[in-house]
Amino acid sequence: LASERKYNDGPEGEIWRELRAIFSDLQGDGKCAYCERKLDRHKPNSQTTRDDAVGDIEHYRPKRGVVEWVSPDGIATGGSDTECYYRLAFCLRNYLLACSICNQEYKQNYFPIAGPRAPAHSCRTRELHAELPYLLHPLDSADTDPELLFGFAGITPIVYAAVGTPDFWRATVTIQLLGLGKGERWILDKERTLVIATLYKALDTPEPRDSIAQYVVDHAEDDDWAHASCARSFRRLYDADRVAAKRFAEEAIYHIEKEQSRRNQSRIRF
Ligand SMILES: [Zn+2]
Repeated sequence: LASERKYNDGPEGEIWRELRAIFSDLQGDGKCAYCERKLDRHKPNSQTTRDDAVGDIEHYRPKRGVVEWVSPDGIATGGSDTECYYRLAFCLRNYLLACSICNQEYKQNYFPIAGPRAPAHSCRTRELHAELPYLLHPLDSADTDPELLFGFAGITPIVYAAVGTPDFWRATVTIQLLGLGKGERWILDKERTLVIATLYKALDTPEPRDSIAQYVVDHAEDDDWAHASCARSFRRLYDADRVAAKRFAEEAIYHIEKEQSRRNQSRIRF
C-alpha cells in the first residue's frame, strides 16, 4: 500500500495527472475510451489553477499479469499469465483514459487473445501484434476503428462483421468484456436513451429549427459528445430509414416518460 501511495502521490503523481490531461484531450475532451461516458473534468477557474482531468490511466495490456477471461461463447482466449506485461507499464501506446467502472469493474486484468501470448518481457510490436488481441484499442491508429466493427441499433450494440469471422469476435468480445451491451449497465442504457430521444426530437423539428434543436443536430455526433458513436449510428438510420429510426426514438421516449412518472410518484409530498 505504501508503494502504491508513492506511485500516485509526489512527483510520480504529478506525471499521472499530466498524462490524464493529455489523454483527456485526445479522447474527445475527457471521454472514457471504452464506454464513451464523459469523465469529470475540473477546468481551471478561480479555485483551481490547472486543468485536472479525472479518470484512470488504464493499461490496455495489464501491467501486473493477465487473468484468464472466460468467454461466454467458449472461445479460447489465451489463458492467464502472472508475469505479463511488466515492460509495458510505462509504454505510452499502452495507455488509455477510462472511467473507473470500465477499468476496475470490467477490464480489470483481462486481456483475451486469439494468438500466442507474447513473452512476459516483450515489448516488440511484432510479438504483440501476433497475439491477435480481441479487445479493440480505440486510440491506436494501427488498430481497426471500433466503429467499423460495431455500431448501435437504438441503444443496443450490433456487430457488423459476419458471424464467426475474426472481426466478429473482436467486436463481440470487446462488447462482452466491457459490459457495453444493452441491459448490462443501466447508466449506459439511460444515457444512450437520452441521446436518441434528444437527437430524434431535434432532427424532427421543422426547419428553421429553434437554436437548441439546431445545436443538438449540429453537435450530437461530435467526438467530444458522450455516446457520439450511438448518435452517429442513429443519424445514419434516420437518414436511411425514417420509420425504423422513429421506432427506436419512440421506444426511447417511452422509457424516459416512464422514468419521469416513476420519479414523480416517488417524490415525497408534504
Ligand atoms: Zn467507461
